[in-house]
Amino acid sequence: MTSDVGTADRGLRTADSGQRTADRAVFVDRDGTLIHEVGYLSRLQDVKWFPGTMDAIRLLNRAGYLVCVVTNQGGIGLGLCDEAFVHSVHAAMDAELSASGAKVDGWYFCPHHPHAVVESLKTPCGCRKPGRAMIDAAVREHGIDLSRSWVIGDRDVDVRLAHAVGARGVLVTTGHGARDLERFGRALPDGTLVASDLSEAVAEVLTR
Ligand SMILES: [Mg+2]
Ligand SMILES: [Zn+2]
Repeated sequence: MTSDVGTADRGLRTADSGQRTADRAVFVDRDGTLIHEVGYLSRLQDVKWFPGTMDAIRLLNRAGYLVCVVTNQGGIGLGLCDEAFVHSVHAAMDAELSASGAKVDGWYFCPHHPHAVVESLKTPCGCRKPGRAMIDAAVREHGIDLSRSWVIGDRDVDVRLAHAVGARGVLVTTGHGARDLERFGRALPDGTLVASDLSEAVAEVLTR
């Protein structure tokens, strides 16, 4: 099993051939997981990091995991913000991350929504979680072994997505997580782990 599309300083090498194996990745949700959930974030000043986010991302970087953000941004379809705004949020987050020595390898968002005011952004789409198209795009770009990868997020759709792609899922109880845990509980996919926040989720990932 080899991949030639991994990030240059990552992929593991097999001892005999020197060929790269596919990378492991952690796919993280944005709102309610990296930053506070504010309900359709539409102002840059509402970006508020959870205290452990930078450290958690840095730990994943150091452990050799690719880190990809996968986020439903249905607010675009609803006309509450636009794609340019979402790009500017991610650029601002990227700058803060890199200032603290942490790195996100890819940012993916779904602009669609079932009640979109923009007709072309009405679901069904393949990318709105638990749809898998954002993860498939990351796999094409980076060469990722999903069986050794994780999805961390605060919604049932995040852990359902993990299950759908053959990765492991961690539900964090920040954001909507406590509510979704109560609401879906045993209906969440088998093997779903629960963590109090991203830091605890990452600590768990790093023991596996
Ligand atoms: Mg979320
Ligand atoms: Zn979509």
